[in-house]
Amino acid sequence: MIRHRNTPSLRRQTVQHFGTTSVMPSIKSLSSTLPGTLRWDGWGDEDNAFDPGDRPNIWPYVAQHLQIGPEWPRTPPVDPGILELPPCRLDEDLWAALSQTFPDDRLSVDKFDRIIHAYGKSTRDLWRIRHGRIDFAPDIVVVPETEAEVIALLDLASRFGAVVIPFGGGTNVAGCLELYRPETRPVISANLRRMNRVLEIDTVSGFVRAEAGILGPDLERQLNAAGVTLGHFPDSFPYSTLGGWVATRSSGVMSDAYGNIEDMVVSLRMVTPTGVISTHCVPQASNGPDPNWLCIGSEGTLGIITELTMRVRPEPAVREFRGYLFPSFRSGLAALRECADRGCMPALSRLNDPFKTQLSAAFRSREGRFKRKLGQAYKFFLRRFRGFDFDRACLMVAAFQGDKAQVHQQRAAVQAVYRRHGGMGLGRGPGEAFAAAKYDFPFIRDFLMDHGVICDVADTSATWGRLKDLYDDGMAQIGAALGRDGRPTWLGCHVSHTYSLGASMYFSFAFRCDISPDGAYDPAAELAYYANVKKSSLVCFSKAGATLSHHHAVGYEHLPWLTGESRVGDGSMIEAVKTALDPERIMNPDKLVSGFRERDLDNLLTPPGHRTAG
Ligand code: FAD
Repeated sequence: MIRHRNTPSLRRQTVQHFGTTSVMPSIKSLSSTLPGTLRWDGWGDEDNAFDPGDRPNIWPYVAQHLQIGPEWPRTPPVDPGILELPPCRLDEDLWAALSQTFPDDRLSVDKFDRIIHAYGKSTRDLWRIRHGRIDFAPDIVVVPETEAEVIALLDLASRFGAVVIPFGGGTNVAGCLELYRPETRPVISANLRRMNRVLEIDTVSGFVRAEAGILGPDLERQLNAAGVTLGHFPDSFPYSTLGGWVATRSSGVMSDAYGNIEDMVVSLRMVTPTGVISTHCVPQASNGPDPNWLCIGSEGTLGIITELTMRVRPEPAVREFRGYLFPSFRSGLAALRECADRGCMPALSRLNDPFKTQLSAAFRSREGRFKRKLGQAYKFFLRRFRGFDFDRACLMVAAFQGDKAQVHQQRAAVQAVYRRHGGMGLGRGPGEAFAAAKYDFPFIRDFLMDHGVICDVADTSATWGRLKDLYDDGMAQIGAALGRDGRPTWLGCHVSHTYSLGASMYFSFAFRCDISPDGAYDPAAELAYYANVKKSSLVCFSKAGATLSHHHAVGYEHLPWLTGESRVGDGSMIEAVKTALDPERIMNPDKLVSGFRERDLDNLLTPPGHRTAG
């Protein structure tokens, strides 16, 4: 699936450091302290990349839609050796205090470590870093291993006037880790990955207590060994952390069965600059407003979540993925809504629109001749005898789980609904292909960027009554922004999380960069073009009464529209909480609070020389 890279890595190429003060004795990198860290310039760790040979139809599909010929130039990342960072501004006193508290191998001012901790993995982050534009980087990375060390770190930050940004896996896509206002104080990135222990699994009551920095696969492996699962599988699962999921209100692909991350939190511990918030592991309490809800989605602005108690469920004996074909997106949506009404929603329902359906078909792995011929014959049958128009047909992937009898019963109820809306079973093949490839798909973004193509997503949610219009508005408005100078583009959408009230909607888009035949292009102009497309999605969602993001958090990329969606009185409720818990504003400052306007975002997203007036 994913090819091992043999291109030179940043670590191997640049063992140069940024020691700026004479007091820093040895400057080690954190490579051995934090194995499996994400690559500096893309998705996955240093050894992995997308293998187009394994998915031979995807590039031809993209090239056809974006009108890219064989002579199209490559646009690889810059040589990491030339990357430059803002200078490290750590003063001697803070360095001395930190090095008395933390051992050498858990403190780093190494250039590589500062780059890795500077940004998340949004398209904007990757585009900038691939072109060597790094406007922000923390001054030092600190790796605490215990809650006592986290408390000590915040004390030091408060005493020496430093800022602290909690860092989980660094996979966020909303600008959650980057400071967008100039900061005069030194900035500490607190990498929590070494707080990764499972402390207790109680299979009788159904909960796990674990440290916040544990990665998805490490947690799930230990749970599965005890016969249970958390059931949280975001597409970023291999590289994101439990604490990061809670801090960003994340959603996993099986959320229809297990809920979103906030539904799983039973209790937690969060260290704030003014004390530790600690809640109890009980099934229910009526003790006024719930402190858990302050911490969930706090994006590192109020404190560092150190420990979480999460509800777990028995591992299902059977989990079955199947594919269905609907005559149109509208009929698929109607089927989803009826399943919600009848309380028979599968554990996962992923409805692709026609464009995403075609993309999914193009993404499938290399197939043998027999399988390919069989697929073609079945397609012929569906077109000829069932009247499917493949320009409009939509793939639905559904998952059923439980014991054998439950799966049988669920599937029968769901299929009866699907049939009423023209849905037709495709068997297990498309469902299993989806399940096998779901963690591979994110790798394609780097591959496309290497080929002068920018792609991204914009996710939202709305009530059932608004979804159809939201889809039409999104396709029209994002489509207009995408194609505003007439360049070839691609746009599609899918639904992947459902509720009794409505569902999520996830738009994906791609466009061809404006590159001259000799390979010259202006990265800043392409970033500005991208920023305008992304903004068009947020404006569209805001106007349509949909949410800014179903599960990608706020960061600063969604901030200008936040108060429009959840304003409390004249001021921001979060502002008041922030003042109470973090009066010196040392925790990930300026996030979630109001006062950041659309024009500020324009100025930030759009490099000088490419801004529109206003
Ligand atoms: P980070 O990116 O390190 O941090 C995110 C924010 O949380 C920051 O503000 C940080 O300060 C704060 N934070 C992190 N840990 C703590 C802590 N212990 N205490 C306090 N604050 C903390 N998201 C989904 O919900 N569902 C998806 O399916 C999904 N798929 C994705 C696919 C790709 C390819 C990518 C790049 C991202 C995807 N995301 C998805 C977004 C991202 O993975 C989530 O936002 C994830 O929850 C971030 O976790 P993290 O550990 O990487 O946090």
